[in-house]
Amino acid sequence: MLTKDFIEIEEKFGAHNYHPLDVVITKAKGVWVYDVEGKKYLDCLAAYSAVNQGHCHPRILKALQNQAEKVTLTSRAFRNDQLPLLYKELCELTGYEKVLPMNSGAEAVETALKAARKWGYKVKGIKKDTAEIIVCENNFAGRTISIISFSSTEQYKDGFGPITPGFKIIPYGDSAALEKAITANTAAFIVEPIQGEGGVIVPPDGYLKKAFDICKKNNVLFIADEIQSGFGRSGKLFAYQYENIKPDVVIIGKALSGGFYPVSAVLSNNEVLGVFNPGDHGSTFGGNPLAAAIARESIKVLVEENLIENSFKLGEYFREKLRGIKSKHVKEIRGKGLFIGVELYPEAKGARRFCEVLMTKGVLCKETHDDVIRFAPPLVITKEEIDWAMVYIDEVLKMA
Ligand SMILES: *Cc1c(COP(=O)(O)O)cnc(C)c1O
Repeated sequence: MLTKDFIEIEEKFGAHNYHPLDVVITKAKGVWVYDVEGKKYLDCLAAYSAVNQGHCHPRILKALQNQAEKVTLTSRAFRNDQLPLLYKELCELTGYEKVLPMNSGAEAVETALKAARKWGYKVKGIKKDTAEIIVCENNFAGRTISIISFSSTEQYKDGFGPITPGFKIIPYGDSAALEKAITANTAAFIVEPIQGEGGVIVPPDGYLKKAFDICKKNNVLFIADEIQSGFGRSGKLFAYQYENIKPDVVIIGKALSGGFYPVSAVLSNNEVLGVFNPGDHGSTFGGNPLAAAIARESIKVLVEENLIENSFKLGEYFREKLRGIKSKHVKEIRGKGLFIGVELYPEAKGARRFCEVLMTKGVLCKETHDDVIRFAPPLVITKEEIDWAMVYIDEVLKMA
């Protein structure tokens, strides 16, 4: 079967909730993916940063195989011998006291929202059913009804009401707006240290620190959504570390599993995660031994192969190379580590056509928010591979 045959079947039988580029991938290794016709591409999306460790990393694959032969799912009705070790290793790596495991990123966000509300009532003393959570414009935190309820992107909500109350949206990067929005009922402020789907938006220096201090002063939980920016993507383990803060809650997912399996979690302290009692919250697959074994190895690979440092170094290199390209279309090049956004002028007529041409040259990236090309390759990428891709990026950014 050829590319067009697969696409035809997919379009006929699948719901059309995505608009993918027309490449049908059949295998992948490291930064490279291969389509059904044998063509090779450099992956500059890394599954929205879920495959930071590179596709089909041999060590993570081995961990998956070994664990799959032993036991894959116990449910949390019983205990398993992988989850406690994942808890311990995550806490040792991040400095948090407790972990609550889930599967998708959206589920971990939901978990953090529930924790924040219950903390608001039980610890802070907010009156029943009046807790508020403050979020930022242009956020992305997943697709559940509660999460889209605080989205500022109209399409995400259109047709899905009634939406969940209890959220307040303020501009991103504006700490004065945060201070103004806080009331006695505010339980939490949830923020992406770098907005990913929003277009790789890096907030002004000092913003996270100021916002954190404002939260502390007002007894409001500071929740960092590091699902995309975490695990080395930004050139640090977590993007919040650029500002020397320690959020009360950190939400992780995506690269926590190296792309092998949906694994997510909420990290926090005893006070916040201590609000959950047996029966308050849960998930059949959350914390299963296969997920835990995969996540344990994914974290070790990230650290032991120095992928965080590589992201920092090669991110600088990637941006420097991009800045060397003389293109009338480029408005701004931004990012931290290998989390890079190239914003185009409106006259460029959208980022998608550039991504489509890049695909024909063997470089896979995806537009985000119409005018931004995101470059976020697996963190195992080398300088030579960046140089290889840059020839085509240069050519394509110079198109008419
Ligand atoms: C991807 C993402 C999510 C949602 O994760 P899913 O696994 O797609 O549910 C939440 N927050 C951020 C910042 C993300 O990038």
